[in-house]
Order: sequence, then C-alpha cells, then structure tokens
Amino acid sequence: MITGKNYVGNELSAKGGITYSTFDPKLNIPTEWNFHEATDEEINTAAEKAKSAFKAYRNTSGIQKADFLIAIAEEIENLGDVLIRVYIQESGLPEGRAKGERGRTMGQLRAFADLLKEGSWVDATIDTAQPERQPLPKTDIRKMLVPKGPIVVFGSSNFPLAFSTAGGDTASALAAGCPVIVKSHPMHAGTGELVASAIIRAVERTGMPDGVFSNLNSSGIEVGQKLVMHPNVKGVGFTGSIRGGTALYQLANERKEPIPVFAEMGSINPVVALPGALGENGGLWAKSYAGSITLGAGQFCTNPGLLLGIKGNELDAFASILGKEIEKIEPGCMLHPNIYSGYEKGKEELSSQSETQIVASIDTEAPPNYGKQRILMVDGSDFMANPKLHQEVFGPFSILVQCEDINELEKVIDQLEGQLTGTILGNEEELQSYGPIAEALRNRVGRLIFNGVPTGVEVCPSMQHGGPFPASTDSRFTSVGTSAILRWVRPVSYQNWPQQALPDALKDDNPLDIMRLVNGRHTTSKI
Ligand code: NAP
Repeated sequence: MITGKNYVGNELSAKGGITYSTFDPKLNIPTEWNFHEATDEEINTAAEKAKSAFKAYRNTSGIQKADFLIAIAEEIENLGDVLIRVYIQESGLPEGRAKGERGRTMGQLRAFADLLKEGSWVDATIDTAQPERQPLPKTDIRKMLVPKGPIVVFGSSNFPLAFSTAGGDTASALAAGCPVIVKSHPMHAGTGELVASAIIRAVERTGMPDGVFSNLNSSGIEVGQKLVMHPNVKGVGFTGSIRGGTALYQLANERKEPIPVFAEMGSINPVVALPGALGENGGLWAKSYAGSITLGAGQFCTNPGLLLGIKGNELDAFASILGKEIEKIEPGCMLHPNIYSGYEKGKEELSSQSETQIVASIDTEAPPNYGKQRILMVDGSDFMANPKLHQEVFGPFSILVQCEDINELEKVIDQLEGQLTGTILGNEEELQSYGPIAEALRNRVGRLIFNGVPTGVEVCPSMQHGGPFPASTDSRFTSVGTSAILRWVRPVSYQNWPQQALPDALKDDNPLDIMRLVNGRHTTSKI
C-alpha cells in the first residue's frame, strides 16, 4: 500500500503539510497518491539516525551485509505485480521494461552480495616490518578500504528502479558499509515508497540498525539541498541533468567540510560511422541506430545523440536509410510532461539553428507526452562553430555531422565535452587506418564500443559508466558495476597495530581467505 509518507529510518512519518502527486503520462492525469514533503525535522532525524546507524553498520561483517542485500532483492520480488503496476502508471514505460528493470535491480543487489562474500574488494595491502633494515628499521604497515559514512542518493527520473531507491548507488553504498538516505524522485515517489518498504522489511528481517536506510519525499530542490549540506552526510550519488548535478556538486564544495558528489549527468554519446563499415553494412547499421535512438523514447543517458561521418556516397546512403527507418517507428510515451516539454523545447531550439537541416522527423499528431523523433544534419565546421548543437536533447533525437575528411573528424571529436560512451562503426582495417580517431575518442569518453550501439549497459565488474566532465563529476569512478562501491570508501593505514586489534582483512592468518598484496605480491596465503 502506498501511504505517501517518508521513511525516517524504519518509521513512516508525515509531519509536513506540503503534499504533491505523481503523474500518469499515458492518461495525462495525476495519480491518486499524495506524498508528504519531508520537513526539516524529518531531514534532521533521518541524518541523526544514519549517523548513529553507521557506528554499528560499519562493523557489520561482509557476510551479514550480503545477507541484507539479498533480503532487499527478495523483498522487492515479494512486492509482486503492484510494483510493476505503479511503475508503469508513474513512468508510462511498458510492462516488459518494468519487469526487466526490476530483474536488473535485484541482479545488482545480488552482484554486490557476491562481492562482499568473496571479500577481496577491501584491497588489503600489507608491508610487514623489517626490524633489521639499515639505516633505519621499517615498521609494519597495513592498509584497507573503510566506509565514509552516510550517503545521500538522488534517484534518476529515467530508471525508477535500477538507478533509484534500491538502484546501483544505494546498493553500492550499503555494500560499502554506508547508511543511505534517498531523496526520492518526485516523478515516481509511489514506486520509490514501495521499494523503500521492501528495504525496511529487509532491515528488520536481518537485524540491521534503524537508520541504515531512509527515504524522503520532495517535489522541489530544498530537501535535496538540505541533505547535501547536512554535516552528518559524507557523500552524494546523483543521476540526472547537468544543471542539477553541477548545482549539487558546487553546494557540496561550499560546505565547511566539502564532500564528494558522484554525479552521472548528460552525454550525447558520439558514434563515428567510418566509410568502409557503411559501404559494407550501412543499411543494417541505419536500422539498428533507428532502434537505438528511439529506444525507451530516447530517455537513456547512453542514447546516441551524435552521429559523425565523412562526406561521401556511403554517408548519404546511411542518412537516407536512417531517415526512412526512423519515420517507420511509432513515437513513445515520455516519462512526464516536464520531460516531454523539455524534449520539444530542446529539439526545436536545435532545429532552428540555420546551419541544420532535417533528415527525418515525425510531425503527425500523437497523444500528449509522446516524444516525436527527429534527426538533423549539419556540416562539421558549422557544428564546431555552434556550441548549442553540442547540447544533450533528452529524447529520441540525434544530429548527423558530415565532416570533410579525417582531419576535420578528429577536430570535431577533440572539441567535444566529456561523454559516457564513444562508438566506432568500422572494419578492423579501418580501426588501424583511422587510429587517431579512436585515440581522440578515448580521450573524451568512459566506454569505447566497436561495431555496436551504446544503449544497454551491462552490469559487470569491467563496466565503466562515467566519463570526463560533464558526463560525470569524477571520471575515475563508475556508477554501474561492482567497482561503483569504490565511491563510498577511503583507505586507512594501520601502522604497528597489534594483531588482535586489526580488522580481519589485515590479520596475519587471513581469516577471510581473501586476496591481499603482501610485500608486493598478490596472495591468499597466511603470513
Ligand atoms: P534533474 O532535474 O537533474 O533532477 C534529478 C533530481 O535532482 C531530482 O530529484 C531533483 O529534485 C534534484 N535536483 C535537481 N536540481 C537540483 C538542485 N539544484 N538542488 C537540489 N536538488 C536538485 O533531472 P530529472 O528531473 O530526472 O530530469 C530532467 C532532465 O534531466 C531530463 O529532461 C534530462 O535532460 C536530464 N536527465 C539526464 C539523464 C542522463 O543520464 N543523461 C538522466 C535523467 C535525466 P526535484 O525534481 O525535486 O527538483
């Protein structure tokens, strides 16, 4: 049942008078639920509870934390069809996507549970003492990763499950040993409350401390700002717009004690289509890209918003087939009227730039909130001269940039802002002969793709989802895959510390049986 209340630790709470509803974009009407915006008192209680929960939770074993994450996955599954119904109602996304995203969310939680059970992620590094060393003896030093403290998570609009309440940020922070306060996304607060109730049931089932998780509602920016400014909070995870992510990053840096904000923000995901690949398989690539650009009404951070090629017959043929394929696809419902109007505004703003021409556009009537796809074309020199054309248009939209030659193509890539992904469509000989292009692309992105589409982000240890600014605020880290845990920890060295007082990960007899770097060699052996 959806109550519209906040979870302040394990307690449902509705102390404030300000309420708001979520919205059904398909029916174009508000939903039946009213959510109570969190008050200052509720924000403060959640932060105090998180601080006190941290004292117990940071010392919870990897196995206990793993059991907690598995229990969250089970409780999400136990929510059954009601979760799927509310998800669809609040997002306009189809049932298959809802179920797929639920599976991904549970899979992420279980992947972190496996990481914790294996245990080596704490990066235990041991340099034993050398009392005989000359001219000075060396003392025993041992280092490992420890959790930072309570983390605030801002769920995304476009992934109501996998990047929201129990999504990758929450799962990785809880796995690291950090309590989490979620600032619920206002567009899917009902979905968020259901998932929060599952987390609280898991907290109670596995005996985790009250305050290890809270879920606070808000329909404006104040609750999030107050959470980021709260002295008990030690880090922030965010997925959303460049504007929102940058504002929170600046706020966190203005604190008396600045804290890191790991924001995953905008990206237009350049795709370089080389002539050989287009000559051999241009039709297939055009069809595949028409699907990728319109997938989920284009509402993916990895949506291919920029197609780059070299002028010639191959690119002309590709553009023509892409246009036909794009126009065959029915527009999809977008997440919310605000996302829809943002899309229409961005699309028209870029289309009105005099250098652009339309390759394909759906301009027929569609139901309210349905995003009608469009592809524009522009010359490389015009693209470089007009920064407006580099903006992300969040929706089923892409710009095809025609370059004169490889030199211009390289210049265009060099001038791009940081991106999550960069793709090359080519044959293997082209990858050799266009080497500087691949190099230039690597300099701008977090994930390089060869002959594929950027949409679809595998959850696995080798995934990098994050890139140079503004794709993310810290390109050293990923928000997808098990390495995402590294955002919420810091290294601590123990110097000359007695054996029995060391954490298990650093003890001589290696009771956790983990891989460690001992005197420069990776080993699971005892010392
Ligand atoms: P958003 O506006 O960035 O908001 C995300 C979350 O951050 C919301 O909970 C929002 O709270 C909060 N927030 C935003 N600005 C804030 C600020 N200055 N201070 C404190 N909190 C702030 O993104 P959205 O609502 O999810 O979607 C809007 C646009 O973001 C989309 O149209 C799209 O352009 C972009 N977007 C991009 C990606 C991507 O991966 N590239 C993903 C999702 C969205 P309130 O809503 O309560 O104000």
